[in-house]
Amino acid sequence: MPIYEYKCEDCGAVSEFIVFSADEEVACRSCSSPKLTKLMSAHNTPSSSGPGPMPNFGGGCCGTPGSCGSPGGCCAG
Ligand SMILES: [Zn+2]
Repeated sequence: MPIYEYKCEDCGAVSEFIVFSADEEVACRSCSSPKLTKLMSAHNTPSSSGPGPMPNFGGGCCGTPGSCGSPGGCCAG
């Protein structure tokens, strides 16, 4: 589930909220102000579809199936 960070424009406190919809109403947890600015938060977002190096560990990590005991074990160096 998406977790967003909001910064309060009144007191500057940053609060994290689990937002289920774009119209989710959030309020500062310090002063209960509704004037919150959504921050771009990437570290809390699960990388489910993000790009990145994803080696194929289906077989052996060195190209030979069954050549390695653990994925990446012989290719880490
Ligand atoms: Zn506040």
